[in-house]
Amino acid sequence: MSTDATVPVRTYVEQNSAGFVEDLKDWLRIPSVSADPDRAGDVRESAEWLAAKLRATGFPTVEVWETAGGAGLPAVFAEWPSGDPDAPTVAVYGHHDVQPATPLELWENPPFDPSVRDGKLYARGASDDKGQLFFHVLGVRAHLAATGRSAPAVNLKLIAEGEEESGSPNFAQLLRERAERLACDVVVVSDTGMWDRATPSTVTGMRGMIGAQIDVHGPSGDVHSGSFGGAIPNPLTELVHLLAGLHDGDRRVTLPGFYDGIVELSDRERRLFAELPFDEAAWLRNAKSAAAVGEAGYSTLERVWARPTAEINGIWGGHTGPGPKTIIPAEAHAKLSFRLVAGQDPAQVRKALETWLAERMPAYLKYELTFEGGGVFPCLTPLDHPALQSVTRALGRAFAEDPDGEHRRILYTREGGSGPEADLQEVLDAPVVFLGTSLPDDGWHAPNEKVDVAGLLKGAEAAAYLWEDLAGNK
Ligand SMILES: [Zn+2]
Repeated sequence: MSTDATVPVRTYVEQNSAGFVEDLKDWLRIPSVSADPDRAGDVRESAEWLAAKLRATGFPTVEVWETAGGAGLPAVFAEWPSGDPDAPTVAVYGHHDVQPATPLELWENPPFDPSVRDGKLYARGASDDKGQLFFHVLGVRAHLAATGRSAPAVNLKLIAEGEEESGSPNFAQLLRERAERLACDVVVVSDTGMWDRATPSTVTGMRGMIGAQIDVHGPSGDVHSGSFGGAIPNPLTELVHLLAGLHDGDRRVTLPGFYDGIVELSDRERRLFAELPFDEAAWLRNAKSAAAVGEAGYSTLERVWARPTAEINGIWGGHTGPGPKTIIPAEAHAKLSFRLVAGQDPAQVRKALETWLAERMPAYLKYELTFEGGGVFPCLTPLDHPALQSVTRALGRAFAEDPDGEHRRILYTREGGSGPEADLQEVLDAPVVFLGTSLPDDGWHAPNEKVDVAGLLKGAEAAAYLWEDLAGNK
């Protein structure tokens, strides 16, 4: 299908970079803040803007999808079939909504009036996530120009969410409703970044999460600690005693079966993590902490990326105002959350907490245990997965001095947080790989959010190589 009139990917990307930046600036001028109900019209306009751009790029199918919940924050779906019956199907995920821009006075240029200074494009959404989603538009054009094809080498689908910055409340349902349209062999998420400028890397997984609240009831009302103290149960004392047993001396979580079936780090992944130029002192400054402590036998990065956790997020009850008030309080409360890793299921952790609490709570105390929704699954793609190897090669070419020569070495990271990526893996039953070139100092969710324009162009380049690679590697 290839013709002689091809242009190398990097050349094409460079020749079209000015137009790419101008188009992106147009999109960034639309303040698609999903958290602000007054901006719902802007989120819709942002969706329509993207849909029009995808049509102009050549996607034969482009649709704006309403989500449940009635917030009017639509997603955009696009599809471009390869024409090759054996081509694999890829679904690109990103989001077109943005975080609120307040406090406005901390911005050097207005957040929705994009400005390029020193090769960096400053605007809300420049990096998270419009810039990283938009590099796919340039990427697919570069892929066609370089291969001489009239359609991509993969069946290319794209889903741009409009509610991500509001916690993706309807995304899992949208995926379930549209699972057939979104069916794919691999999901490519472009909503993460790299280790740093000198260390190109890709994410291999994210942790899951489940949140819970415990409410313990003691006396039916607050009573005098002089008259009754020492002779009846104090629900706060009992609760903190119980929660003190949530970890053992090695800081391992004591819920029964908590670690059963989890995917342990391989020696190779541990070695690769250890190669990342990790500055623990700088990390501790970001952590606003004096010391790094955690599960025995694991490094700091391993703890935040690849190990599950239990945290007490808050405890309250009784008298907390000024001065003394000598009572046995009627109630005690705590909020807990658990970060989960591959092999754990939020429902399994929920059961484990129920069992743990039932076994340890004294019979003379009444309590309720409630959960914050069904939780979020973890996701992980193993290092030897063919799709992850394709991403590694594509990034290695994009970041190499000479894309046809020796490739740059790409390292691996994970995300300690949780997101809609897990729903993609769960509902679409496809591996998730991550193609993002944002840098840690891009200021996501902060004033003066920016993106390195050269990094976005590398993203476009990598996407172009990735479609070629996945098609040859199905
Ligand atoms: Zn994002």
